[in-house]
Amino acid sequence: MRVDIAAQAAHSVRRGHPWVFRAAISRPPRDLASGSVVEVAAGGELLGVGLWDATSPIAVRIHERTDPRRGGRVTQLDEGSFGRRIGAALKKRDAMFGAKAEGDTTAFRLVHGEGDRIPGLVVDRYDHVAIVRTDGDAIRDWLDRIVPLLAKSLRDRGISCIAVRAPAGGGDAKVEDAWGEPMPERIEILEHGMKMEVDLARGQKTGAFLDQRENRRRVRDASRGKRVLNLFSYAGGFSIAAALGGATQVTSVDIAAGAHATAQRSFRANDVDPGKHAFVTADAFEWLEKAAAKGATFDLVISDPPSFAPSEKAVPRALAAYQKLHRLSAAVLAPGGRLAAASCSSHVGMDAFIGTLDDATLARHDLSVQETFGPPPDHPTLAAFPEGRYLKLVMLG
Ligand code: SAH
Repeated sequence: MRVDIAAQAAHSVRRGHPWVFRAAISRPPRDLASGSVVEVAAGGELLGVGLWDATSPIAVRIHERTDPRRGGRVTQLDEGSFGRRIGAALKKRDAMFGAKAEGDTTAFRLVHGEGDRIPGLVVDRYDHVAIVRTDGDAIRDWLDRIVPLLAKSLRDRGISCIAVRAPAGGGDAKVEDAWGEPMPERIEILEHGMKMEVDLARGQKTGAFLDQRENRRRVRDASRGKRVLNLFSYAGGFSIAAALGGATQVTSVDIAAGAHATAQRSFRANDVDPGKHAFVTADAFEWLEKAAAKGATFDLVISDPPSFAPSEKAVPRALAAYQKLHRLSAAVLAPGGRLAAASCSSHVGMDAFIGTLDDATLARHDLSVQETFGPPPDHPTLAAFPEGRYLKLVMLG
């Protein structure tokens, strides 16, 4: 099956963007099942091959591109090509963390979908467990063929269990064993030597937010002697990092009560007494308003909210929410303090996000942007695919 796409879409595909929206296809095939291999062409020129999605607005995700060095030929999209791409992704992680992950970091992303040129496929490593998550219908059809390929490469790397997590947005976090030993419900992992308990059975994403690993390390380095406030603390990753970095007191705020129990277990695993720190179950906005009214102050405030912009249409509302959050955060920041503001909204770019941290918004004139950070190397992104660079962290001080 071949689909013909508009010139504008062809331009972005040539630059390396992996998505073709349904609206860009001149005569979208009907009755083509999700997961079918389709050729993508423009004006008779073959651009690449990808997988068809029958329902998503992203109709095709391109896996293999026409290679100008091979006379404009394109690699067939089959188990062989998946195997090669997976192999390449794993080799890059071997270089970062060691093939068997026996160093001081035992949890990281093995395969990062589009960024590793395997659109729709995410694989995270948690010690000896690999969790697979799919994005879109197309790749789900291939899982029966992909899991054995993963098992073959991961067995030698010390993985003894592969489980598949229900797709993002699919309601309850359902996990199914796919290969090897049954998946443990909880697991303790190491991140730069810091112990973290991960709830594999019920946690968000694949269990933890591995994309913030380097930022947690940065917070650890910035916490000595500081009173730290961690907003949207989830399982307490930034909180433990701050405590291990020498914070005098850490306050964690999250609306989900269950998250604090996991955080407190992680505190204990690192020989930090959670009793010396505060865990608050509350809406962060409401809590900040009350704290500011009482005159509470902190030396380091971390803000890592869930995505505020599920779509392009929601961007103005998301920017307003970030502004409100940042103004409230600045209101409890002591003079000379630092604010670490994060965003995981893919529709809000770095510049727009920094715009929600200006003097007028923060209602103070003593803070400057010191450093900005994007995703870590195990979450690579494609140059022509800015959507991949959803994670942003801005350090002000
Ligand atoms: N910083 C975390 C990840 C945060 S995920 C880490 O490094 O692991 C976002 C968290 O925000 C979730 O735990 C969710 O329960 C919480 N949350 C969502 N809305 C909230 C609100 N209005 N107030 C406080 N917490 C909220």
